[in-house]
Amino acid sequence: MGFKAFQFCDEISESIKAQGFVKPTPIQEKAIPIVMKGRDVVGLAQTGTGKTAAFVLPILERLNQGQRGKVRALIIAPTRELAGQINDVVVSLGKSIGIKSMTIFGGVNINPQMKNLRSGVDVVVACPGRLLDHMNQKTIVLSHLEVLVLDEADQMFDMGFLPDIRKILKQVPKKRQTLLFSATMPKEIQFLAQECLTNPETIETAKNAAAVTVTHALFPVSQHLKTELLLQIMYKIGTGSVLVFTRTKHRAKRLAETLVSADFRAASLQGNLSQAKREKALAGFRDGTFQVLVATDIAARGIDVSQISHVINYDIPDTTDAYIHRIGRTGRAARTGDAYTFVTAEDSGAVRAIERVLKASIERRTVEGFDYKAAESKKNEFARPSRPGQSSNRKPSGAGSTRDGRSFSAGGFRRKKS
Ligand code: ADP
Ligand code: MG
Repeated sequence: MGFKAFQFCDEISESIKAQGFVKPTPIQEKAIPIVMKGRDVVGLAQTGTGKTAAFVLPILERLNQGQRGKVRALIIAPTRELAGQINDVVVSLGKSIGIKSMTIFGGVNINPQMKNLRSGVDVVVACPGRLLDHMNQKTIVLSHLEVLVLDEADQMFDMGFLPDIRKILKQVPKKRQTLLFSATMPKEIQFLAQECLTNPETIETAKNAAAVTVTHALFPVSQHLKTELLLQIMYKIGTGSVLVFTRTKHRAKRLAETLVSADFRAASLQGNLSQAKREKALAGFRDGTFQVLVATDIAARGIDVSQISHVINYDIPDTTDAYIHRIGRTGRAARTGDAYTFVTAEDSGAVRAIERVLKASIERRTVEGFDYKAAESKKNEFARPSRPGQSSNRKPSGAGSTRDGRSFSAGGFRRKKS
């Protein structure tokens, strides 16, 4: 089935073509007709399945009728990056019908946003905190609102935004269409959906199944050898774009530094970064300046880099939902990707839980030639491993880590190659 069946107006159909979308994704196929009927919808589908266009296209078709210059659609998203990405989709699909869309998020000057709002826009894509600021200051008028979208609802819950969302809901017109999209459905989101949607239709695709195009593999390894193993795998990966997840901010930062000292174009994305640095890391990863991005779960919220080839869980995620979220970032829409997870002996319970959700056992892999038995005392976790075909140019560096790999000596990072 193509997009024709939805009978979008010619301009929107052209924009879909220009975007390179040939065939609707499963969630789009199911959700679009129902959203176009004006029904409230709960859309459940994992990350990377095309949820954005599933709500943006019907919204544009609706906005094409009726008056312009009033905020008639409000899309709420958990992070600035995500809001920016959704806005980009609205702009590129809505350009042909002259729809005006803008983002609202914190961390930047509020005045340009006010000016933009005053100039008249049709769609606002907002993060909850700054949106509330505008609502409180009455710099946004929502009395013409027709459609409200809560996107990535589970992430908004994880990030503690539900109280803000409830405040927002109290101040928007009751008569409206409400759409809620989420990759997972924790109880809190079910409650939220009951509160703010009217007689919703729930649409699910491949519940809790990670993208089919993703190859999963486990790499059993001792904690103290994880960094060395990562470097070896990086050499094998070659040119792919790699997203690495660590459990802590500190580890993300240090690991990125290690990768840089091993000559990889790497950056970290973690909560301690300034907004400017965060954006630089993300933009650099998107445009290929950085081949590797090392991130924590929270910091990585909303990253959509469609060309990620590998997600590597340096530390296994805490929950199966987090696993699905992380993996959803590779193998997005019709692409293939690899999901590698480093596992230590302590992770066996977490592995079983993930395998249960995937309904399959995950292949165990080893890296040929890797010294899995390297003793902790002898290992040099941050030294540059010799590349295949290269004579050893390893330097003594005195870098080390504790058993759990948390504490890294600075020596390994400061060391400069000769
Ligand atoms: P989600 O919100 O479900 O995580 P997105 O809406 O961000 O997913 O879409 C993921 C990727 O898939 C984006 O890069 C988007 O451009 C692409 N995409 C969406 N719909 C289609 C389609 N019908 N055909 C091809 N690619 C698509
Ligand atoms: Mg999304």
